[in-house]
Amino acid sequence: MRLSGKTKLMGLLGSPVSHSISPAMHNKAFEILDLDYAYLAFDIGVDDLENAVEAMKLLRVRGFNLTMPNKNLVCKYVDKLSPLSRIIGACNTVTNDDGILTGTTTDGAGYMKAAKDAGFDLTGKKMTLLGAGGAALAILAQAAFDGLSEISVFNIRDAFFEKAEKIVADLNNETKCKVNLYDLEDENVLNREITDSYILTNATSVGMAPNTDNCIIKDDSIFNSELIVSDVIYNPKETKLLKMAKNKGCRTFNGMYMLLYQGAESFKIWTGEEMPVKEIKELYFSQE
Ligand code: NDP
Repeated sequence: MRLSGKTKLMGLLGSPVSHSISPAMHNKAFEILDLDYAYLAFDIGVDDLENAVEAMKLLRVRGFNLTMPNKNLVCKYVDKLSPLSRIIGACNTVTNDDGILTGTTTDGAGYMKAAKDAGFDLTGKKMTLLGAGGAALAILAQAAFDGLSEISVFNIRDAFFEKAEKIVADLNNETKCKVNLYDLEDENVLNREITDSYILTNATSVGMAPNTDNCIIKDDSIFNSELIVSDVIYNPKETKLLKMAKNKGCRTFNGMYMLLYQGAESFKIWTGEEMPVKEIKELYFSQE
């Protein structure tokens, strides 16, 4: 890795961060492209976030990522927000331009690129989206801006649901996409919307390790072989949802390349260069 007196720092602020693949992915990409940057992970929770953001500015870092639990709170500490981040009230990427911090979110773009990578063009299509948490809202907003015709979001009626109501209204006003919000417990509506969709996307944490036997969809008769089924979860690589769908002949993709491409999008914003995703995929994102 190239390190010099001019090396610019980038980083990740979250807690925990010791499991994160982002430092490996970004530093390898800097090495491959011979860029004079370095990327480090910092274990920072909400109590220290404001000071950490100030420190990032003081150290003149080029940018930083946010992960749990900081994606929402960081919006208070940046100078500007992208339209997507303004709508969903969260960012995972902050760029420092001479002391002016701009926050945006690349999770949704990462998902859309992963869909494209898997061979699916979602433009003009209908999606059923399970969940209204951080990952779900990022996908929802990006997909609505990227030209899906309709998105039906399902969540249990709780605080996430209430927050989503305002976001759904904003997206219906600001995009051409028709966005609906339904109660996840209304099984008939869920089945109807899935049957009418091109793609079903799980953006809840249900099915994530260690609870790999869990799945929101209980009855696999809802899957027909025309339906594409995706999951944002990457651990395990094949969730129970994806297994069930595959057994019924559906084409599927998991959350691994969403993780890769959200990083690649941040990388592009900060460096102006395309991340060498082919090499990074082979090294860190094996689907085996
Ligand atoms: P949040 O906590 O923000 O959201 C969790 C979502 O899951 C909420 O909609 C929540 O709904 C729902 N949920 C949790 N438990 C249940 C349940 N038993 N029944 C129904 N719904 C449930 O988390 P994130 O959005 O940050 O993360 C969600 C998943 O996405 C995680 O598995 C994470 O690893 C993955 N992820 C993947 C990324 C990638 O790049 N591939 C990026 C970011 C996240 P409620 O609590 O309201 O019921």
